[in-house]
Amino acid sequence: MLYFADAPTLVADLATGAAPFSAYLWIGILTFTTYVLAGHMREQVCLYMCPWPRIQAALTDEWALNVTYRADRGEPRMSVKAAKKAEDLGLPAGDCVDCLQCVAACPTGVDIRDGMQLGCIQCGLCIDACDTVMTKLGREDGLIAYDTDMNIERREQGLSPVYRLVRPRTVLYTALIVVVGAVMVYALATRGFTGVNVLHDRNPIFVTLSDGGVRNGYTIRILNKRPIERHYSLLIEGLPEDATVDAVGHPIMVAGKPMITVGPDTTEEIRVLIAVPADSGLTKSSDIVFRVVDTASGESATASDFFRIE
Ligand code: SF4
Ligand code: SF4
Repeated sequence: MLYFADAPTLVADLATGAAPFSAYLWIGILTFTTYVLAGHMREQVCLYMCPWPRIQAALTDEWALNVTYRADRGEPRMSVKAAKKAEDLGLPAGDCVDCLQCVAACPTGVDIRDGMQLGCIQCGLCIDACDTVMTKLGREDGLIAYDTDMNIERREQGLSPVYRLVRPRTVLYTALIVVVGAVMVYALATRGFTGVNVLHDRNPIFVTLSDGGVRNGYTIRILNKRPIERHYSLLIEGLPEDATVDAVGHPIMVAGKPMITVGPDTTEEIRVLIAVPADSGLTKSSDIVFRVVDTASGESATASDFFRIE
């Protein structure tokens, strides 16, 4: 909740009971949903609600390093006693003793020995569980490990494992990440510290005044993204010189332009009324631009809208 409001102010208001009702309501909703999801639904969230397993399944391939049960080494699974008997008879015996410790350790209840599954969140707990078992039995660890489906196939065919980190898929993903990252860095580096949004009145879209002039109403919001109070002048471009601009509740005018003060790291919503005389010569709908200019730094921001006379 502190993300959506001025954090120190909201903390103080919450403590004194002066915060808006919506703040208490949303804290209640978030607390309740967190408790239900993390306290009761738990792995159901991973299995049925989280989109990550679907994304992971689309991204991975037979060369990708995933938490993998090395079936070539583990199968046929059997107890230590049965494995000894099989060896005496010259029959194959895998390293998996079917103790189910990997399943017990898995937070989503996956049996990784059945292969890669949607429920697997790649946490690696089954690796640790199985390594503990292997160590106790005096066998080499790594029966479950980060490996690829391709290597299991290759070992089953008597070939040595191969790891291919650079392949078309990884090159494409890297390129996409670099492009998206560059766009984000550029957007962050060039982002302005002033913004303005404009909303034209919908009903009525214009008002004809008693002297034949026409007035349009707008709601504008000025964004001050710096941690200091700033003073903006409001200019409207695209209107005749005899047009009048009234920022309601902001009577201070400098050089005929309304002055608006916006507090640090905050926004200010203002009602603006623009009027033109009867013989303004404007067409039915004229494009206009709202420009706010920081009087100290000269930094400005613009938003486009229209002025209607009929
Ligand atoms: S990596 Fe984690 S989620 Fe996946 S099977 Fe192993 S314990 Fe379960
Ligand atoms: S923990 Fe290892 S040995 Fe035990 S069942 Fe799982 S894979 Fe087999």
